Amino acid sequence: MDWRRGAASGLVLATLAASGCSLSGGTTPGAVGPTPAPGASAGVTPTPAPEPTPLQASQAASPGATLALLPDTRSGQALDVPLIVRGLAVINRDHPVSSAYAPKVTGEAQLVPQASQAYAAMIAAAKADGASIIWRVGYRSYDTQQALSATPPTFYGKDADSYVAKPGRSEHQAGLAVDVASEQGYGTRFPETKEFAWLRANSYKYGFILRYPHDKTDITGYNYESWHYRYVGVEAAAAFGPNSELTLEEYLGGR
Ligand SMILES: [Zn+2]
Repeated sequence: MDWRRGAASGLVLATLAASGCSLSGGTTPGAVGPTPAPGASAGVTPTPAPEPTPLQASQAASPGATLALLPDTRSGQALDVPLIVRGLAVINRDHPVSSAYAPKVTGEAQLVPQASQAYAAMIAAAKADGASIIWRVGYRSYDTQQALSATPPTFYGKDADSYVAKPGRSEHQAGLAVDVASEQGYGTRFPETKEFAWLRANSYKYGFILRYPHDKTDITGYNYESWHYRYVGVEAAAAFGPNSELTLEEYLGGR
């Protein structure tokens, strides 16, 4: 299967990234010659603050603190927008959004404007450093997520629920998350690539964090996904830093 953008069918793309995303490992041979793009790495400094309806969390950011559910008194139509904690949208198994939530996305990455701009800057900087990051999935609608979770790809096996989000529980519906790959490896092989190493070292500079780190399934609700990056803005991402294993839930003081 060819995972490269443009080569993948809609069905294949829908198969990827459920929380989440793809699992199957493998290598796609055919190295891409790095093509440095001079002058393309100007760091954009978008500020966070995605959606309206602020809902304050009382806890301060304290990695490793006792976890508790982030306060969420929403119900009914309030679910038409994400839970916002400290200016950041929180969408996970405990904090869903409804099918009505469909933000406008833009650009090649199909993310909300700030995230899209930051992603483009990040990819350009990576390319200048010889890392060719391949985009696979940005926005995914509620309906697409519903179809995906109803019939998860068979290669997930019994672990499907640890990768595939139920509708309304995926950050992809918010246009704030992107799944990526490398010509040298995707899925579970992605960590072996220089593109992964580059992202881990640098994504925070552009406001992106590794959303589902190793051994944090009990907190995030999802298995390790080396390919899924969440836009939180440079201010919040600075608290994560390079090669961070911190989760968004820990950063915000709950889960
Ligand atoms: Zn994903």
